[in-house]
Amino acid sequence: MPLQIVHHPDYDAGFAVNHRFPMSKYPLLMEALRARGLAMPEALSMPEPAPAKWLKLAHAADYVDQVLACEVPERIEREIGFPVGRRVSLRAQLATAGTVLAARLALKHGIACNAAGGSHHARRAQGAGFCTFNDVAVASLALLAERAVENILIVDLDVHQGDGTADILKDEPRAFTFSMHGDRNYPARKIASDLDIALPDGTGDAAYLDRLRAILPELSARRRWDIVFYNAGVDVHAEDRLGRLALSDNGLRARDEMVINHFHTAGIALCGVIGGGYSTDVPALAARHAFLFEAAARYA
Ligand SMILES: [Zn+2]
Repeated sequence: MPLQIVHHPDYDAGFAVNHRFPMSKYPLLMEALRARGLAMPEALSMPEPAPAKWLKLAHAADYVDQVLACEVPERIEREIGFPVGRRVSLRAQLATAGTVLAARLALKHGIACNAAGGSHHARRAQGAGFCTFNDVAVASLALLAERAVENILIVDLDVHQGDGTADILKDEPRAFTFSMHGDRNYPARKIASDLDIALPDGTGDAAYLDRLRAILPELSARRRWDIVFYNAGVDVHAEDRLGRLALSDNGLRARDEMVINHFHTAGIALCGVIGGGYSTDVPALAARHAFLFEAAARYA
């Protein structure tokens, strides 16, 4: 079966090419997926913007209203890292709904990926760190609210700690948050996940994959999970501008394969989101994000 992929052309909010946030990675990722024969028309889905009631499951109502009205206070926009105009607001609603849709597809087909998402620094009160809404937290709470699932595992391997997800889900016992990240990276003040592994600067393929291999069985044995959300941020790569780790392309490929194989073997549905990746060579960056889809396609 072809891999179920969720995408929307308006995931790209059209930033200037020299913006600190490499927005053009979204259309370039879709190009890369098409070039690899992974974006099959019959397995491509497009989300509608997320309704406010979903967003308010995870975020303060006044903050959601501010984003939807494009009236986010400047103080918060500065923490997010860009102004929240019409296209950014729409993009955040679409990317969030995309993760909800990918999660539903994962429950139906076993595995599915959103070609965006992983906005894990958005906290309950507000966005931060290039993240407007926390798509994985919204999707988790939406699925729980409609009783589609009872136990959710979040495996966040973006190089930055998943502080926003930890914040939003800290009082939700049905969701377990795991983050493995660079210790000295953003955010400076981390919010504890249910389980955190902090790695030293310069961690390379072998040490990284050893830690991951050791922790995966422990994670899957904790409970009978209905779904795992996998944040496959590629900012662990040696050439990433913001990461401080040193994974190679092969290390990244091995990571995605290991995670997906593990949960597939355990019979747990997996929803992949792309997470962070920051590089001035955006085609190379998009190719790295494509690794998630290449691995997922082997299990679709
Ligand atoms: Zn990151």
